[in-house]
Amino acid sequence: MTNKVLIANRGEIAVRIIRACKELGFPCVAVYSDVDQDSLHVRLADEAICIGGVNSYLHMNNIISAAIATGCNAIHPGYGFLAENSKFASLVEQCHLIFIGPSSQVIELLGNKINAKVIAKKCGIPIITDSEGSVDSIEEAICEASRIGYPLLIKATFGGGGRGITLVHDDNELISEFNRARFEVEKSFGSPEVYLEKYIANPRHVEIQIMADQKGDIVAFPERDCSMQRRHQKLIEESPSPIVSEELRTILCEKAIELAREVGYTSCGTVEFLLDRNNHYYFMEVNPRIQVEHPITEAITGIDIVKTQIQLAYGQRLSITQKEIMIKGVAIECRLNAEDPDHDFRPSPGMIRNIIIPGGMGIRIDTHLYAGSEILPFYDSLIAKVIVHAPTRLEAIRKMRVALEQFMIDGPKTNIETLYLVMYNTDYVKGIYDTNFINNFTEIVKANKHE
Ligand code: ADP
Ligand code: ADP
Ligand code: MG
Repeated sequence: MTNKVLIANRGEIAVRIIRACKELGFPCVAVYSDVDQDSLHVRLADEAICIGGVNSYLHMNNIISAAIATGCNAIHPGYGFLAENSKFASLVEQCHLIFIGPSSQVIELLGNKINAKVIAKKCGIPIITDSEGSVDSIEEAICEASRIGYPLLIKATFGGGGRGITLVHDDNELISEFNRARFEVEKSFGSPEVYLEKYIANPRHVEIQIMADQKGDIVAFPERDCSMQRRHQKLIEESPSPIVSEELRTILCEKAIELAREVGYTSCGTVEFLLDRNNHYYFMEVNPRIQVEHPITEAITGIDIVKTQIQLAYGQRLSITQKEIMIKGVAIECRLNAEDPDHDFRPSPGMIRNIIIPGGMGIRIDTHLYAGSEILPFYDSLIAKVIVHAPTRLEAIRKMRVALEQFMIDGPKTNIETLYLVMYNTDYVKGIYDTNFINNFTEIVKANKHE
């Protein structure tokens, strides 16, 4: 039987996976919702099959039926949608198809953030002080809060995508936010369960990409710094981090590998950490899937993560050893979103009337846009990723400036100007930033505009 892959996703990541399949010589099948029939992934795949309405990328049975009907033997979930849904992974396994990701048990184990922290602690990884379990009532919350201390976060046990995180500074805020947070969390993630976690002031988000084969070999990659976030959502990432020492890098890689070994991890994934102002590291969570920002790691290491991920799923061994993973230069990624900067970055869907995509040495654009394509209001507002790679950080920043300057999108509003302005910010250029940088920066830009 030849290997054939169904891609249960859309947008730039579906396009990225299609390219990987084609390079491997595996035929691939796109699925699409009826509003997505003109999407690029539908055009680029070898076959495409409509699976229903707007929400059909979440319809497990339709997707699995499509895979079986088209003779696929594997399903790649991409990120978002069903990528971290252990029930889906388990269904795929039960249908004797390969789920291109870790096993359903591992996804289930790590999808619960409280669980994941318990595992990390067992591996000797420092964790952020928390309520040691879910908090189900206001009384319990107040009691736990007095032990943890303010400020703290109310976090969704099954959260993701930067949503379901609420900052509170005192008992009054906790009381007024607690039930609202649970309500919102239930709407987003299907369970209202939350826990409390100490708030680390002005932290850096650094994360380690791992890859594990089915024979127990595991490798870890140099860290990505994803501290440039807006409302807990990553916007600009770079690798390596300008503030992580060789020594800390080695420790983070070792810890990520230990955790992966502990749970019997296979496939690719990412272990996320926070660094406090003293560069002490704490485990945050594991994303058991391909991540949006994987291209910066590909750039500095020369390793194709998506191709490797597919090969690992088909049972191949890792062909690289830890020693062979080297850092060459610096890579930065900017996420272009169809958002209106003048209206608090609300989604700005619409038709792409014209588009000019930058290029040149060390510039990579991952996108599903083309002239005439439509950005739909129903899905993620990510429209393109601009990835640059250069020998030094400053050269990478200068390259990013040029790339953003030459990226022309006629149609919906985008955040491109904000990204461009950041590339000229003195602190950013010096590598001095934390997870609050973008929130503060956009406030300053707004204030200046209104002067
Ligand atoms: P998600 O699953 O939504 O990605 P995470 O737990 O990874 O949730 O947190 C998302 C972001 O929220 C982090 O990158 C960080 O910026 C912020 N964050 C999470 N936990 C803390 C914390 N304890 N203190 C400070 N910031 C935090
Ligand atoms: P990454 O670390 O890959 O950047 P993000 O947290 O930005 O991950 O999430 C990537 C995409 O997946 C985003 O489009 C986000 O909205 C979506 N996503 C992540 N986790 C979830 C989840 N649990 N439920 C729904 N969507 C999610
Ligand atoms: Mg996260």
